[in-house]
Amino acid sequence: MPPPPDSSPAAQPPLFARLRRLWPYFSHYKAGWVIAVTATLMTGLTEPAIPALLQPLLDQGFTQGRLRIWMVPAAIVGLFAIRGLAQFASQYALARIAGEGMVVVRRQLFERLLSAELSLFSRQSASQLANTIVYEVQTGTTQLVSAFLNLARDGFTVIALLAYLIYLNWQLTLIVLVLVPCVAWILKTMSRRLYKVTRESQTATDELAYVVEENVLAHRMVRLHGAQEGQARRFDVLSTSLRGLALKATRASAATTPLTQLVAAVALSTVIAIALSQGQGATGRGITVGGFVAFIGAMLMLVAPTRRLADVVNPITRGLAALERGLELLDEVKPEADAPAVADGAAPDVPARARGDIALKQVRVAYRGDSAPALDGIDLHVRAGETVALVGPSGSGKTTLVNLLPRFVRAGAGEVALDGIDVGRWPLQALRDQFALVSQEVTMLNDTVAANVALGAASVDRARVQRCLEDANLAAHVATLPQGIDTVLGHNATELSGGQRQRLAIARALYKNAPVLLLDEATSALDTESERLVQQAVTRAMAGRTTLVIAHRLSTIEHADRIVVMERGHIVEQGTHPQLMAAGGLYARLHSQPMAPPAPSAHAENHAGQDG
Ligand code: ADP
Ligand code: MG
Repeated sequence: MPPPPDSSPAAQPPLFARLRRLWPYFSHYKAGWVIAVTATLMTGLTEPAIPALLQPLLDQGFTQGRLRIWMVPAAIVGLFAIRGLAQFASQYALARIAGEGMVVVRRQLFERLLSAELSLFSRQSASQLANTIVYEVQTGTTQLVSAFLNLARDGFTVIALLAYLIYLNWQLTLIVLVLVPCVAWILKTMSRRLYKVTRESQTATDELAYVVEENVLAHRMVRLHGAQEGQARRFDVLSTSLRGLALKATRASAATTPLTQLVAAVALSTVIAIALSQGQGATGRGITVGGFVAFIGAMLMLVAPTRRLADVVNPITRGLAALERGLELLDEVKPEADAPAVADGAAPDVPARARGDIALKQVRVAYRGDSAPALDGIDLHVRAGETVALVGPSGSGKTTLVNLLPRFVRAGAGEVALDGIDVGRWPLQALRDQFALVSQEVTMLNDTVAANVALGAASVDRARVQRCLEDANLAAHVATLPQGIDTVLGHNATELSGGQRQRLAIARALYKNAPVLLLDEATSALDTESERLVQQAVTRAMAGRTTLVIAHRLSTIEHADRIVVMERGHIVEQGTHPQLMAAGGLYARLHSQPMAPPAPSAHAENHAGQDG
């Protein structure tokens, strides 16, 4: 839930300071500001011209015939031409200012997303982040910019109208100064109420839609568990509250107009009464008919802008709040720390291609909020070219161990080294270049097969893509796709079967041709036929590389050079398959158990905030 706007003004820096912080994003397009301000100024200044035209028309046009017939009509057309032009120019200029600002803000946010510490992704969901970067920035900017447009236009209008009123009759203007704010206040209160109710009913509508959506997505589960009745009740509660809110909104909006008209009538009558008494008064300070009509006209014209001015802080704070949620992302989310050498600009002394020797010494990892460490006292040496399997019950820390290598997770204590160099000393990208990863959850971009296989490559080598697909046992299927390797896969490649997606992920790993291959339950979720194809592909991928393989099905790792058995964050035994079977420990027990389905992991990618 986003925090309500302007909920705690005391806790926030003053409005002006908050606005000033945003200024740099919107200050690039200087010409736009000049145009916008000039045009708004003109719009405001032309406002009193309308009643001002009425005065000569009434005083002279109809009665004494001193005006030429074409003058007033021509002036009206001219006036509206100028106003129209000015309004167009100001709106356009502000839209440009908003648009340019939005591009800058979004770009920064997206860059931050790409480089953020991985803990961001366990704190915020994909849809929250998408919402902030795409929608909130948009609403915030639009609201803020149009609030400023209104502020300027209404401000100028009120000043111009008041000046004209004073020029016509300053005594009457004093009365107007009391009455107009009253009317404006009523209108403002009503419209606030209306806004609140509208917002509430929007939320309720969203929730209602959400219930429908959930029940569509989970239709099988709802039926299977006989949960229909509860869901219907849930729907009823929301639906009824929505009806109540709709009525409340109608009450607020239906009452506004009559109430305002009543107050306006009172105001008008007061002015008329005073004007009449002045006209007949002994002072002889009379008001002409034209002057009176112009005065009333200008007075009524004051109401709308005054009302908007009384409420101007609201859209500004709302826009600010939305934009600031975006900026908070910039403030709070730290980019991933790179090696100190990179920060200094010094050339890092790491090989372009590692041999693939991995060493962990007394490594400890504790996730924030977890009582027991995920890994503790881990000592493990994987020689270049060796295939080491990690096995153990779900939650024993296997994924965490693998995530330490490309620094998706940092060790709280101990040392993790690749080719004898601490991973913290490797420049981040150089380090990550050394690993290819295939995990249980395959993620594909909404792009072509070729682009997905060659992810991150500067240019796509099509022949190599083809070779990798062949090695991954996927070439035959890709050949049946409408555009072959140029077929766009759609969101996360859902049209492919689990086994095909898995083999595509292997093709991607093959294309990367990194010295170290990490396989995290790559074959767990597959049926036997897919598993055979995937297993073949995996075996090809492992050739000539250091491989760390986590497998749920122990049958798939029997030929590993070494099997490391983990339990509750510790290594409890290691050796070859025959050795471990003979030892009769945890491995032998796991092996004899009938195979349970792979546990769905709550922390699929294992990159939450750790304490170290
Ligand atoms: P495995 O891969 O062997 O199933 P994991 O490395 O995924 O085990 O998890 C080891 C322990 O760390 C588990 O207790 C798990 O709950 C915890 N854990 C894993 N990832 C996170 C995370 N992102 N945040 C908090 N705890 C986590
Ligand atoms: Mg795991």
